[in-house]
Amino acid sequence: MIGIGLIGGSFAIDLKRSYPEAVLHGISRKEQTLQKAIDLNLIDQKATLDDLIHADLVIVSIPVDATVQLLPTILDKIAETTLVIDAGSTKEAICKIVEKHPRRRNFLACHPIAGTENSGPTAAIPNLYVGKTNIICEVEKTTFKLQEKALEIFSKLGMRIRYMDAKSHDKHIAYVSHLSHISSFMLGKTVLEKEKNERDIFDMAGSGFTSTVRLAKSSPAMWTPIFEQNKENVIETLDEYINNLKHFKQLMQQDNFAAIYSEMENANYIKQILNGIK
Ligand code: NAP
Repeated sequence: MIGIGLIGGSFAIDLKRSYPEAVLHGISRKEQTLQKAIDLNLIDQKATLDDLIHADLVIVSIPVDATVQLLPTILDKIAETTLVIDAGSTKEAICKIVEKHPRRRNFLACHPIAGTENSGPTAAIPNLYVGKTNIICEVEKTTFKLQEKALEIFSKLGMRIRYMDAKSHDKHIAYVSHLSHISSFMLGKTVLEKEKNERDIFDMAGSGFTSTVRLAKSSPAMWTPIFEQNKENVIETLDEYINNLKHFKQLMQQDNFAAIYSEMENANYIKQILNGIK
């Protein structure tokens, strides 16, 4: 496990349950994070990059800028039969950095669509991946045997699989994930700036505010490199979102509440789509 935060740690919990014979070795940047992962029984032993030669499976769950930086070295250090999986929320830059690597066929580019707003080893939870979609990109670039190995693991963890090219992944995920986070971060900011007395926010916060602002608790260390790597797609989604907000404001200024009613009624369609996904 390279990175044992929410995503890596949750993988570790379910892998231990599905493969009780497996020995999990952890690598992290900070010693105290590694120690915490041991204390929480997420991993069995500490390791270094030089131990990768002995690994059957390597799961890389670190921020996407660190993944781009470290993935070529990881592939340099593995054995011929090792499977390397990443979990990064962007895929184009990660796939690009290893496209010509001699061990490219050992790597499977993944994005599990699962998570919470919490981070670090203490955020790891069991069954995070049950019933969740795992997006696999450029599957044809991974050897068939290692694809099979990965699919068996994902199936044991209860995941559904979708295949996509890295470019489409980054474009679509900008709408359903990256924009939601920006919208939540900026909602949090707007309310914090206006309501200087935090007690008032706390007292008046209903479930609507709490659920909409939940993502604003997410880690800036994880999200800044995601926005940087997916800059163009994110700016495009922001343009569309800002236009919709401006349009809503205009309708308010024009006292056009019939149109506002209709805007919300159209947006209610999201209920049917999300219920269909469940
Ligand atoms: P997290 O809880 O913050 O865990 C990431 C861990 O990576 C940290 O504990 C950190 O440990 C370690 N780390 C940072 N830089 C490192 C480096 N250079 N080398 C080794 N370890 C390093 O984040 P996460 O939510 O698990 O996210 C991990 C990855 O999964 C990211 O790529 C993210 O895009 C992706 N992802 C996240 C979600 C989500 O909802 N959170 C969902 C799907 C995918 P130290 O304390 O040692 O620095």
